[in-house]
Amino acid sequence: MTLRARIARQVRANGPMTVAEFMTIALHDPRDGYYANADRIGRDFITAPGVSQMFGELIGAWCAHEWRAMGSPTPLQLIELGPGDGTLMRDALRGMRSQSDFIAAARVTFVEASPSLRAVQTRTLAGLADATHVERLEEVAPGPSVIVANEFLDCFPIRQFVRDRGVWRERLVGAHPTQEDTLVFALARDPLPDDSILPEALRGAGEGAIAAFAPQLPAFTDAVAARLRGHGGRALFIDYGDGPGGDTLQAVRRHRKIDPLEDPGGSDLTAHVDFGLVAREALRCGLAVHGPLPQGAWLMALGLAQRAAALAARHPDRAQSFADAAARLTAPDQMGSLFKVLCLSPIATPAPAGF
Ligand code: SAH
Repeated sequence: MTLRARIARQVRANGPMTVAEFMTIALHDPRDGYYANADRIGRDFITAPGVSQMFGELIGAWCAHEWRAMGSPTPLQLIELGPGDGTLMRDALRGMRSQSDFIAAARVTFVEASPSLRAVQTRTLAGLADATHVERLEEVAPGPSVIVANEFLDCFPIRQFVRDRGVWRERLVGAHPTQEDTLVFALARDPLPDDSILPEALRGAGEGAIAAFAPQLPAFTDAVAARLRGHGGRALFIDYGDGPGGDTLQAVRRHRKIDPLEDPGGSDLTAHVDFGLVAREALRCGLAVHGPLPQGAWLMALGLAQRAAALAARHPDRAQSFADAAARLTAPDQMGSLFKVLCLSPIATPAPAGF
């Protein structure tokens, strides 16, 4: 039975589920969830580390720079959240080979939910580092840390709400009345009793407006804050998002957008990240917030153009491909402005590189 058929059976028996519940099953079902099947990453979408080695190299240089700014604590927990196939960390460590004190200090820890991706990540780092795997940030060994996460927060499940005749109603996933195994969106009968989980800017939104809330995001930010305040460090988040409004739930299969309800488990499901929510929660926890900056501006500030030119000089036959990759990562109509970079740190730390 397909995962979609299992979900349809479940909602026929128990009633419609929230979009967040649907996303959780679609992404993390132990057998048929999207991330349970490692081969799908790479087949369906490409992320910045897959566009170019330069992305991971610049992030590696950023990590080493921040480690020095922190006073070169040894050991350093070098933590990546949701590493996918491990390419970013591989390129970061390779790029920093010459900074042997940093490499010697770094204890690479991956926070990864999927057992099959853990195996892929270990293979990718073979010969470079022995990564420790944990399921949650709270399980990482104590001590100063530099945390990086690219396209991690966009897989946090979201609840969605639709403005309907003056109230907010939760968007639900239900079963089609006649077509077996077909899922449809529906609206909760009862209005949302308390709209304080929605950002103020959206509370008076017009008819048909859609708002999102990622229920795990505040507690996750609290965990980051506890770690940074207790042990020192930086946390860098790179993701796409323009705020909490609009229907940003998106399914991608083989590089094409499809209906999010069509193929749960067989398509990657994501939503725009509400950086405002992360920033507000981080400030409430007493952290400093840097950014969000557009990815293009941040990468240029870190020296992407110089890195592309240096690689092109060393490999003249591939000069055009380095220039193309740099453009793809930074151009406003590609990944340069929809993607944002946010850094959290303890208060009273100097501005991190690029901010
Ligand atoms: N950072 C990678 C891959 C992004 S895909 C890149 O840039 O290419 C998202 C990754 O986050 C996957 O490795 C997925 O298994 C992991 N992930 C998603 N939700 C998670 C959660 N709640 N806890 C731990 N890992 C999670």
